[in-house]
Amino acid sequence: MKKQERADRVQIRLDDLYPQTRIPLDHQDEFTLLVAVLLSAQCTDKKVNEITPALFERGSTPSKMSQLGESEILSIIRPLGLSKTKAKHLAKLSQILVDDYDSVVPQTFEELESLPGVGHKTASVVMSQAFGFPAFPVDTHIHRLSQRWGLTNGKSVVQTEADLKKLFPKDSWNRLHLQIIFYGREYCTARGCDGTICPLCRELYPRRKKPFLHKKA
Ligand code: SF4
Repeated sequence: MKKQERADRVQIRLDDLYPQTRIPLDHQDEFTLLVAVLLSAQCTDKKVNEITPALFERGSTPSKMSQLGESEILSIIRPLGLSKTKAKHLAKLSQILVDDYDSVVPQTFEELESLPGVGHKTASVVMSQAFGFPAFPVDTHIHRLSQRWGLTNGKSVVQTEADLKKLFPKDSWNRLHLQIIFYGREYCTARGCDGTICPLCRELYPRRKKPFLHKKA
């Protein structure tokens, strides 16, 4: 089966499985989404959602967050991984939004990626989920599934993002990003897999009779 055909089938199956794509990180607006995405680095969304109600109660705007300051932010987010670095980034980022952006989250990749702690993946999530801009944020999970489904040979998330953008229509990127994450959590976890247990892989690789070892997974 050709790569494009595999991509088309993946899209059909994921639309069947996940017709609704609710954003998993709880938030109230663009700023709180940006904060939640930043906090989610190397953490589960569930853990972030446990912490953010207390954080947003006191720091729901850039101004309130910057007034909290690094040490207060840290005391709230301490249970999360990399909490010291994240607290530092949140305090600085909030101050920059107040000083340079009238407390409004900017709507370009360039401006978002210039903020402390905001890389391309975080900016892509905010651009797609907050502003509806077509983006395909690729994290290690999407990278893994894309390789397992033969949609990319990319050795980096940058290459995988470029490959996925070529295979799927632009108007599907935002929902596919979430659908692939949902599928990865439910079925295709980081644990090793022989590529035969799911109907999806059997459909994508109908001639695969023996277990297949994914080298890059
Ligand atoms: S068979 Fe394995 S690699 Fe394929 S989708 Fe299922 S868990 Fe993922």
